[in-house]
Amino acid sequence: NCKNGDDVIRAVKDYNVSFVQFWFVDILGNLKSFQVTPDELEAAFEEGMGFDGSSILGFTRIEESDMIAFPDASSFQICSWRPMDRPVARMFCDIRTPDGNPYEGDPRYVLRRLVDKAAQKGYTYYVGPELEFFLFADSTCPRPLDSGGYFDAPPLDLGNEVRRDIIFALQKMGIDVEYSHHEVAPSQHEIDLRYNEALKMADIAMTYKVVVKEIARKHGVYATFMPKPIFGENGSGMHVHQSLFKNGKNAFFDANDPHHLSAEARHYIAGLLTHASEITCITNQWVNSYKRLVPGYEAPVYIAWAQRNRSSLIRVPMYKPGKEAATRIELRNPDPACNPYLAFAAMLGAGLEGIEKGYEVPRAVEENIFAMEAEDLSAKGIDSLPGSLYEAAVALRDSALMKEVLGEHTHQNLVGNKLIEWDAYRTHVSEFELKRYLPVL
Ligand code: GLU
Ligand code: MG
Ligand code: MG
Repeated sequence: NCKNGDDVIRAVKDYNVSFVQFWFVDILGNLKSFQVTPDELEAAFEEGMGFDGSSILGFTRIEESDMIAFPDASSFQICSWRPMDRPVARMFCDIRTPDGNPYEGDPRYVLRRLVDKAAQKGYTYYVGPELEFFLFADSTCPRPLDSGGYFDAPPLDLGNEVRRDIIFALQKMGIDVEYSHHEVAPSQHEIDLRYNEALKMADIAMTYKVVVKEIARKHGVYATFMPKPIFGENGSGMHVHQSLFKNGKNAFFDANDPHHLSAEARHYIAGLLTHASEITCITNQWVNSYKRLVPGYEAPVYIAWAQRNRSSLIRVPMYKPGKEAATRIELRNPDPACNPYLAFAAMLGAGLEGIEKGYEVPRAVEENIFAMEAEDLSAKGIDSLPGSLYEAAVALRDSALMKEVLGEHTHQNLVGNKLIEWDAYRTHVSEFELKRYLPVL
């Protein structure tokens, strides 16, 4: 647990570390990394390490492209999937411009700004994401390795050994794991992390994705966070449990409320619901993400909240009803292929807006929404999430709140990138069309 550069330099000596990887992400959440030798560390902590930002997606500035990465000593950890002899370590970085200011296109900075905004109001934002993934033989074909289902145990669960090694590798890096299991779809798995402060958790989520992929590779299989790899089966979600604490107390908890939810929790839910369409392009950023958000696969489609109902966008888990620390809400549309920094920032931004403006929550919808008829839905005022990346990108483009949350630079770059992605998809001639039309038209 390093607090500053000196701690890191000492740890590097003590553990005979060969290289330190400097990590950051681009606007889409792709992990970027460069290796620094121990001799450079002192200077890196003082002056940062320069790199060419113009080759990083979403980092291009018109004026110039020199960027400087400043390592965050508190994120120093030895990479547990690398050989332990002359180990490799990693640190997350904050990106600054040569004039010393935080770079507005750095997703970690976007989240930091939101977390600071919450802190000014006395809030600490805690999140607990559930990142689901599939294991396949390789990256060319989504053929399941087992026919297991929810909570199936070995021998049906062939991922058991892989999951066990992933958990050990996470724990070695100081990441707390709560439980893991085979998920609903064949070859689908989930490992749940103990909740943490949002910025820390975004770093952890990035690490989790690397560890899952690396350990799978060691077992000769391929792990993917693609939202919907198999038609007709559940996709992979990243439900995000969230709460705000104030003065060490859970601000979402109210012992006297029948649902144990405080007014702040209700306003926060209302903020997420009101701005749900605008944040979906951030939480679900790929063409494929929208193949998951369809009825029938435990993924949300409609903008509603409920106490129990898993067809709704927001659920209030009641595993430990009345227990203050466990009181939280669960947002169910995000998928694990999102950029966790931007996703947490967008959620917090929407929730805080709800609290600030005192939004009122609509009635909780406990019925199965998938079973409702269209008239019923409109009578109840239940809207749908965007149905495609295009709809989501337009909603993001038109969102004044998200422009403020992401900052103009990131907002503009992200919308632009997503519209290009949509166009590439829209103009592509697919297998579906060839099979369906060529023989008959
Ligand atoms: N895999 C489901 C999804 O796409 C979630 C299943 C669950 O954990 O409830 O969100
Ligand atoms: Mg799950
Ligand atoms: Mg869940």
